[in-house]
Amino acid sequence: MPPDLARINAYIDAHRDRFVEELRTLVRQPSISSQNYGVKECGELIRKMMEEVGIEASVLPTNGQPVVFGRLASPKAVKTLLIYNHYDVQPVEPLDAWEHPPFEATMVGERIVGRGSTDSKGNLLCHLKAVEAFLKTDQEVPVNLKFLFDGEEEIGSPSLPDFVEKHRDSLAADGSLSFDGGFDASGQPRIQLGSSGLLYIEIRARGPKRDLHSARARLVENPAWKLVWALQSMKGRDERILIDHFYDDILPPTEEELKLLEDSGWDDRAHLEEYGVDRFLLGLTGIAASERLLFQPTCNISGFKAGHLGEGMKTIVPAEALVKVDFRLVHRQNPLDILEKVKRHLAKHGFSDLEVHCLGYIEPSRTPFRSRIAQALISAARENYRTEPVIKPTGEASGRQGPWLASRLGIEGAASGVGPPKWRGHAPNEFITTGHFIDGIKYAANVWSKYAQS
Ligand SMILES: [Zn+2]
Repeated sequence: MPPDLARINAYIDAHRDRFVEELRTLVRQPSISSQNYGVKECGELIRKMMEEVGIEASVLPTNGQPVVFGRLASPKAVKTLLIYNHYDVQPVEPLDAWEHPPFEATMVGERIVGRGSTDSKGNLLCHLKAVEAFLKTDQEVPVNLKFLFDGEEEIGSPSLPDFVEKHRDSLAADGSLSFDGGFDASGQPRIQLGSSGLLYIEIRARGPKRDLHSARARLVENPAWKLVWALQSMKGRDERILIDHFYDDILPPTEEELKLLEDSGWDDRAHLEEYGVDRFLLGLTGIAASERLLFQPTCNISGFKAGHLGEGMKTIVPAEALVKVDFRLVHRQNPLDILEKVKRHLAKHGFSDLEVHCLGYIEPSRTPFRSRIAQALISAARENYRTEPVIKPTGEASGRQGPWLASRLGIEGAASGVGPPKWRGHAPNEFITTGHFIDGIKYAANVWSKYAQS
């Protein structure tokens, strides 16, 4: 028998004020992972909040900040859903730009202002309060639930791959789901079925033992030129990446995914304005531009350092040159495989003496539009918010959230977010509204129900 969502929603409405107070308590506990400020205390607070609603929870160590792991078994449920969320937050600087202190959760009308209110404590708490609503109305949660709450998302979740490998058995599930961030800027709920991957490397060229008088450039190889030539061998002026087999594993978008792009309401002018440019690469416009943004990999120079960059003239052959290159990768490119291809490319083109170091990577992911988890999110979003959601077949940015976890575990995964549009992510005066938070609890409950029925 499907759950009685009307009773669940009535319970959520009846306990609205207390739920808002609990979110304020959570926002008041700082948890800045990049500054190691309050993260462990926040993990403990969440474990306690999970136990209070009846979830079996523990704080598990990783190589960095702990993961809060939990599970809730429902004897009659057939499917298991793994919920990803994160409890760490971004730093608060510049502090004087906040109209209210970032960790006081000040109420301003309907707004709860505070760091982490939307990203992602408001989102996280929706799941816990949805569990409470099921159990307190004497109903079984329609799916078995597992919870993985990450304490390092805002620094790229560096410990998560190891954690997942180590706990593969306890994480076993049919699908994964993450809530983070808020509605699309258009005011519609947003559903994302994947994320981009990333490979970040630095390449160092060494020249003479020390900087030399540039008159010696007649006899001594300049490492900056060497890097320029190496870079030039990697990408053509037509933007095609020239590394052998670089594009081999890419899965092009399906008809359905292209249709999603058409329906996405892509607006050239708004994006040009946001980027501060007057044209896109290759003169692309419309759907072609949005397709390239989501489905094509990049080879991007993030930084280049060599020789004299101070004021005025200084004539030298620099002793070394350094470039930082990032590749945005798409489904199903493997970052470590791409790293090997880059090294082989450099060796093949006579640059085997360049030093290549990998500084970090994230695997890309993409879950089909027809997957159960995507369909559950879409129908719950339509019902709860009475509007069409914006569906992104994958994400332009990279992260280790629900879709990433899914591809790591070989299951399907999707992401959504309950916060308001323009919630000031990573910026001063971040907020959530009480309405978005309360609606998000109802949305979580409905997503689980729809997923159970799928
Ligand atoms: Zn964030």
